[in-house]
Parts: sequence; C-alpha cells; structure tokens
Amino acid sequence: MYHGVFKPGLTVAPYGISAEQLEQQLALLKKLRYQIVTFGQLLTITGHQAPRPRRMAVLTFDDGDSTFTETALPLLRKFGMKATLFLINQRVGQPGFMDASGAKQAIAEGIEVGVHSMTHPNLCQCSQDQLHEEIVESRVQLESALGTDGLDTFCYPYGHHHPGLYPLLKRAGYRGAVAVFSRERTVTGNPYAMRRIYPHPGDSPLRFRLKLSTSYLKWVAYRDRNRETTC
Ligand SMILES: [Zn+2]
Repeated sequence: MYHGVFKPGLTVAPYGISAEQLEQQLALLKKLRYQIVTFGQLLTITGHQAPRPRRMAVLTFDDGDSTFTETALPLLRKFGMKATLFLINQRVGQPGFMDASGAKQAIAEGIEVGVHSMTHPNLCQCSQDQLHEEIVESRVQLESALGTDGLDTFCYPYGHHHPGLYPLLKRAGYRGAVAVFSRERTVTGNPYAMRRIYPHPGDSPLRFRLKLSTSYLKWVAYRDRNRETTC
C-alpha cells in the first residue's frame, strides 16, 4: 500500500515514501522474482480461475496523488510492473491530485484503476444513503469520467470496514476490496477484506524484506485476530 512517492529534495508527506525507497523496493521484488499482478488479477487468481504464481504481489497506490504520474509511474515503467490505483472522485483534477487525462494515460499503460469512494469518508459512520453515494454512485461517475467501464475493485477510505459493507459492495458489482487491517487468517481469506502491507517511510531495505515474509504476514494475522472492529 503506497500513497505519494516523492522525488529527491522534496519532503515526504505523511504516508508517503521517497522515490529512492520505491525504486529499491521494486528492485527487490524483481530480484526475488515476485510476479506483480493487479488487484483484479489477484481476485481472479484467488477465485481459482487462473494459475497461482509461486510468489506474487499487488502494488496499490491510494488517493490519486499527482506524484503517481510524476514519480511512481516512470519507476513502474522501468521495472515493467503493473499497479492498482485507487481514485477518489472528488479529488480527481484537484490541486495535488491526478486529473482524468492522467488516469486515462495510466490505464493505457496497463495500470488498473479502482474506486476509493466519492469523498473519502469513514464508511463505518455513513448512513445508507451516503453509502450508496460513496460505493455505488462513485463507481458510476468515475467510469463516466474515465470513459471506461468495469471498475470492479474498491479500497476502503482509511482502511475502515465492517462485515455489513461486504454484501453492499458485492451487490454494487465489486469483486473485492482492500483494507489495511483484517481479522482474516490469511491475506486473501476474504476478497472484501484484503489486508495490505504498509511500507513505512522509516523502513530500511531489510525491514521491507521482512514485511514480505510469510512469518510477518502470519504475525500480523495473529496480532489482528481479536480486533473487535476494523472501524
Ligand atoms: Zn485514502
């Protein structure tokens, strides 16, 4: 799970990392022979409709920060890697965020776009009408803005989710959704509550490598097993 990716000399904003860190991390994924798939492809693979690679990873970029086009995309191009970009309707084209033409260009380069709500609220605190707007209407409007259809992946704002949201997403046509925390025992245990690793700006290359390990993922699953809520 990435957000902004900042060029040398620029202050790394909260939740962001430097371009140098991303480059090191992509190089490591390549060296370790990870197959990089989009979130949609992961859903197809885990739904047993496609062969499962030995090692695979999904690179997600949340919020549509303008640094995706300027900094992350050239690095993804360099390593020949795909990614899934989660856009917030109301921020598309706003200062500091990508516009629709930038998103279309990313799609043309093989980047998958998913929905990250209309306004980025905590969905656990939304009324049913608001949920319709944030989950259903956001998809309709984003597809229209990008001149595409079939945006069928979702990302929970702030990672906040609860089981009541899963059937709503399914009915709205989403095949799956990413969170941050999840009570599932495995990352892909529930397609509507997929856990993600957060590469922190303070992570050393060694720590990033540890975060990729099965042991780390098992430890996170153990840590989160008794979370009463993910809201
Ligand atoms: Zn977000």
